Amino acid sequence: MSFTHSSRIFALVDANNFYASCERVFRPALVGKPIVVLSNNDGCIIARSNETKALGIRMGEPFYKAKPLIQAHGVHVFSANFALYGDLSARVMSSLSEFAPEMEIYSIDEAFLDLSGMQRHHLNAYGRQMKQLVEQWTGIPISVGIAETKTLAQMANYLAKKSKKANGVLDLTRSPHRTRALQQVPVGEVWGVGRKFAEKLQRHGIQTAFDLAQGNDAWLFQHFPAPLLRTVQELRGVACLSLEQAPIPKSIACSRSFAQPEEDLGKLRESVAAYTAHAAERLRKAKMACQRLLVFIHTNRFRQNVSQHFDSTSIGLPTASEDTAELIQVAHRALAQIYKEGYAYHKAGVVLLDLVPANEVQQNLWDTVNRSQRSTLMQALDQINRDFGSGAIRYAAEGLCPRWRMKQEHRSPRYTTCWSELAQVNA
Ligand SMILES: [Mg+2]
Repeated sequence: MSFTHSSRIFALVDANNFYASCERVFRPALVGKPIVVLSNNDGCIIARSNETKALGIRMGEPFYKAKPLIQAHGVHVFSANFALYGDLSARVMSSLSEFAPEMEIYSIDEAFLDLSGMQRHHLNAYGRQMKQLVEQWTGIPISVGIAETKTLAQMANYLAKKSKKANGVLDLTRSPHRTRALQQVPVGEVWGVGRKFAEKLQRHGIQTAFDLAQGNDAWLFQHFPAPLLRTVQELRGVACLSLEQAPIPKSIACSRSFAQPEEDLGKLRESVAAYTAHAAERLRKAKMACQRLLVFIHTNRFRQNVSQHFDSTSIGLPTASEDTAELIQVAHRALAQIYKEGYAYHKAGVVLLDLVPANEVQQNLWDTVNRSQRSTLMQALDQINRDFGSGAIRYAAEGLCPRWRMKQEHRSPRYTTCWSELAQVNA
């Protein structure tokens, strides 16, 4: 079969057995030992190290059921420590953000990076360097999958973890192995397929990602919803999803490097407010509300002879919110907790976590916010910014003349990656 080659390149980076790996960072003696992490109130198993998986202990299994096996094999048991996982996640994400101009934090331990424009023959080495440095900086092992669409990058990541030869990094761009790779991935493992569709596809003889990529469009159109067709296109190498587009977002993040190092808390407050406003706009677009907000700041770790500081913290909201003003207040509280004077900050970021559908928000009896009034205000705000351009209306907290904003006045056209900036020939 023939494949399309798009000009986009995405990397999906995923931390390996993230919660279990977090527990090992501070107890290296546990490397190579079986670990399980339990949900709140120690109910179910929510994370396993590879050694635990090999014992046949299943994801989501109630703790009491797995107990005999756990005791027999001396599996190390941890209650979930979300404060630790959140902080290590922010460290991994901020490290990753050094490797690409644009990044989407997809979940607590996964991020898509935009590598479009990179030399293809360098991609594998770049992925390997990313893996080595992030592991060195954070202690968390990661896997890197690189391909021309997000769906293929997700698949490359899946195989990078499985294959001994790939050893954690797999680049599928222009790879002669793409067909074989597609054949190795069960259809249920393809991003966005899900169990229900996987069963239906299998009943019709579609077992692998390869079978799905070869599927008949008319038949698929008739039997499945449109998002699945987009997945099929993506498997064929046609990029349909850009950064920050996913079937269902798990978290929404906005982070940027500053044009110049910033020491001033006032300026950091402006940048954090602006990132929060941007993330909140996307939150409302996805019709979600967030229950937790995380802020991180750090200095430039590539600069020598500069004192380094990294910190992050997250704050839970009593009622899930989609309200920019409320979220900015929370972000400022978080920033105040982590800001330390005398450091030249290079980057800040805001991550909205624990997302729930906006129409399923649990009401809080002591809520002091008039949610329906605020929601109407937010709709008006979003409408104006859609009509008159992003940022037409902003919160004063975002600053009037933001010097922290990334400078791009002298950027050359994106000749190879943006349709509106292609080179023009006048003949
Ligand atoms: Mg993971």
